[in-house]
Amino acid sequence: MEGNDWNTGCAPDSASADRSLQTSVVQSRYPPATNARMKAYRIATIPGDGIGKEVVPAGREVLEALATTSSTFSFEFENFDWGGDYFRKHGAMMPADGLAAIRDRDAILFGSAGDPHIPDHVTLWGLRLKICQGFDQYANVRPTRILPGIEAPLKRCGPGDLDWVIVRENSEGEYAGVGGRVHQGHPIEAATDVSIMTRAGVERIMRFAFRLAQSRPRKLLTVITKSNAQRHAMVMWDEIALQIAKEFPDVTWDKELVDASTARMINRPASLDTIVATNLHADILSDLAAALAGSLGIAPTGNIDPERRFPSMFEPIHGSAFDIMGKGVANPIGTFWSVVLLLEHLGELDAAKRVMGAIEQATANPALHTRDLGGNATTAEVTKAVCELLGPSARRKAA
Ligand code: ATP
Repeated sequence: MEGNDWNTGCAPDSASADRSLQTSVVQSRYPPATNARMKAYRIATIPGDGIGKEVVPAGREVLEALATTSSTFSFEFENFDWGGDYFRKHGAMMPADGLAAIRDRDAILFGSAGDPHIPDHVTLWGLRLKICQGFDQYANVRPTRILPGIEAPLKRCGPGDLDWVIVRENSEGEYAGVGGRVHQGHPIEAATDVSIMTRAGVERIMRFAFRLAQSRPRKLLTVITKSNAQRHAMVMWDEIALQIAKEFPDVTWDKELVDASTARMINRPASLDTIVATNLHADILSDLAAALAGSLGIAPTGNIDPERRFPSMFEPIHGSAFDIMGKGVANPIGTFWSVVLLLEHLGELDAAKRVMGAIEQATANPALHTRDLGGNATTAEVTKAVCELLGPSARRKAA
């Protein structure tokens, strides 16, 4: 059996492997990459801090295993040692000309930014947000569903009942970085964080979310809001949703207050499909979504520049997890699923489908569950298994 047939044929649940592509970011949602005959994709890897240093090399191994089976693409990797250790040496999380160094890459595979000895706002703004904002990766896409073999905490929720994509506005809103602090340490000290929403910013994320919803089978979008309490920017957000909805008459959409949406995610998960929310709201909701799908260690994300002016960046949604760092027990599945999003972004849809199939075969096997999933498997064991499921030896077995 050849190429893609192998994956479809071998996946324990090929229907669910197909579904996985619908829950990721694929195809016509933004302009596809053009595939040359033998394409060498240039990937920047930035492990960052904590378990990022374990899961990003694992993600690279999976891409390398995949490339050994392909006659149409290969990868050239360059690693960037930016993060907490770099900060200790140089006083910054990344060099001043760092963005220029990675600007011409086809994609970025990122781990995490966070260090117990450096304030969180310094690590976040100095690295991850610097890249997201510097490259105007304004659409943050977070697919969530319950993978085969994963025990999810909701009692009355079957795997098909939780199949969401959260679209997070990734360039402005509550994380615009606007604000200030005066009179520090004095009783009259004051501080502000101002949420900035622009018409251009809201229109483009709404259009992206409607287009994504339109490409999924249910054509269903929920717009998260808080316009009852926040009566300026969130009212504009609602008005723009209504305006953009008119461009997508085949998409069914509704509005939900962010507080009510947490209860709805738990009580009526099947009533949701594509979800769009502001930077802060989606940040919180997507951690809840990841927990409801079984573990933070599984969830992937893509920071996308839909116009492809700059490289997009793919990363697991978990942070540095210093409590398990260096123990070899980090779950690499969130990074592998991020690799699937990366491949889709490159236009390598068959390859993405094969990696997703291998991930699903791995999660279906309890012997390959890491500690966060109640198992004893190590990062290395899960990585080796997924590589073998992709590699030439696995393909020979399948044939
Ligand atoms: P940060 O401050 O960088 O966000 P954090 O440790 O506060 O990091 P997370 O890294 O998101 O937050 O992790 C929360 C907890 O979830 C961790 O303490 C860890 O036990 C668990 N966890 C997160 N990611 C994984 C993973 N990939 N594999 C196993 N456990 C994980």
